Amino acid sequence: MNPVDLRPGVVLQLPLRVEQDIFLIRQRGREVAAALGLEHQDQIRIATALSEIGRELLARTGGADVTFLADREAGRPALRVELVPIRSLGDWDPRRDAPAAVARLVDGLDVTGAGADTVVRMSRRLPPSSAALDQARLDAVRAEVAASAPGTPLDELASQNRQLLAALDEVRSQRDELAVLNEELQETNRGVLALYNQLSEEMEATNRGVVALYAELDEKSAQLRAASEAKSRFLANVSHELRAPVTAIMGLGRLLADSASDPLTEEQSRQVELIRDSAADLLSLVNDLLDLAKAESGRIEPTWADVDLRSLFGQLRGTLRALATRPEVELVVVDPPPPARIRTDEVLLAQVLRNLLHNGLKFTERGEVRMSARLRDDHWRLVVADTGVGIPAEQRERIFEEFYQVPGPSRVAGTGLGLPYARRLVTLLGGELELTSEPGRGSTFTVTLPVAGG
Ligand code: ADP
Repeated sequence: MNPVDLRPGVVLQLPLRVEQDIFLIRQRGREVAAALGLEHQDQIRIATALSEIGRELLARTGGADVTFLADREAGRPALRVELVPIRSLGDWDPRRDAPAAVARLVDGLDVTGAGADTVVRMSRRLPPSSAALDQARLDAVRAEVAASAPGTPLDELASQNRQLLAALDEVRSQRDELAVLNEELQETNRGVLALYNQLSEEMEATNRGVVALYAELDEKSAQLRAASEAKSRFLANVSHELRAPVTAIMGLGRLLADSASDPLTEEQSRQVELIRDSAADLLSLVNDLLDLAKAESGRIEPTWADVDLRSLFGQLRGTLRALATRPEVELVVVDPPPPARIRTDEVLLAQVLRNLLHNGLKFTERGEVRMSARLRDDHWRLVVADTGVGIPAEQRERIFEEFYQVPGPSRVAGTGLGLPYARRLVTLLGGELELTSEPGRGSTFTVTLPVAGG
């Protein structure tokens, strides 16, 4: 056949008339596919599809003309085969009637036209790496196909057998690979399962530990609560019981020292004075203890009322002045800015501020003790600042513990109960008591209370 007569893209044309032609078409199909750069598996795919469809056409229509073309399919270079039956195909349609496995061998299987114009088309796309299908390449492909001499059906049968064996081999090796993969998968599964079991066991153990820890914690806090209640009860009872005899001692001391009683010697007077002083100290300790015990056991119920801070500050200025006995220390009580109102318990708040001012005066040798108030964000900040000895950082929380007093030369008489009591009261009033201090320069106690009460 002269290549010049061919329509564009045609590589080869063959008639299909007798049984043997099927072998020939199959063989030539493989050769064209190889020449166009399709890989081995694809060569066999297109050749097999071709022989299946060819056999069908031969049986149904008595033959067909077969054309191999290098063409495009869905925008990509492809090998296309057109089979034009020599008689009508009837209602046989390869898309519907050919085995599904055949359709899967190719990228396209199609029928166009009807009667004498019927064309069955099939195609297989060339790999993206294959060379461009220009005229030179087409000529080369044609020349390559023309050069190979068609073999006998027996040759093709032998080659088909070889392909079958190779395919079987491949299937076997794929099956083996699958078995290995399956085994690996099962192995991994077992590992994951073991890990999961181990993790859940560990988690359970941890959970049990946490639960036990919580139970212990609950028990400990119940014990703590009970101990603290017992302590408060004890303090309240003891101080209550002590108050009567101590008051009696003071009364007796007063009687003894009274001018209406029998006169005492000077020594006796001195000793009675000592007894009265000690009794007074004891009474103040007992009273402090009783206050603290009451506050701790929740037996103090604030009496809420609208309080005028200016008048409260005024009262404190008056009472504390008597305690400011050092001429080098000035007591400054700054009037709060109006409207100086707060909802609180006036008596309890006065106790707190008096205590702080009293401490300030006790621990300040020169300078001043200043009380001021500032309103900020619905809270009053009542500040008692002194220029006294100050409190070292490591003692700043400890002084709020019962009976704790900062050791050292600046120690003055006291019970060590004032600050813990003050903090309790402030908490009861819905606020906070905080301290900043610089040893040697002074301390600042700040009571923060909500304007609207706790
Ligand atoms: P007391 O004053 O009766 O000892 P507090 O509980 O009021 O008990 O105070 C405890 C201790 O805290 C005091 O002994 C003192 O060491 C220290 N402290 C309290 N206020 C001041 C202050 N303004 N400056 C320096 N130290 C202070």
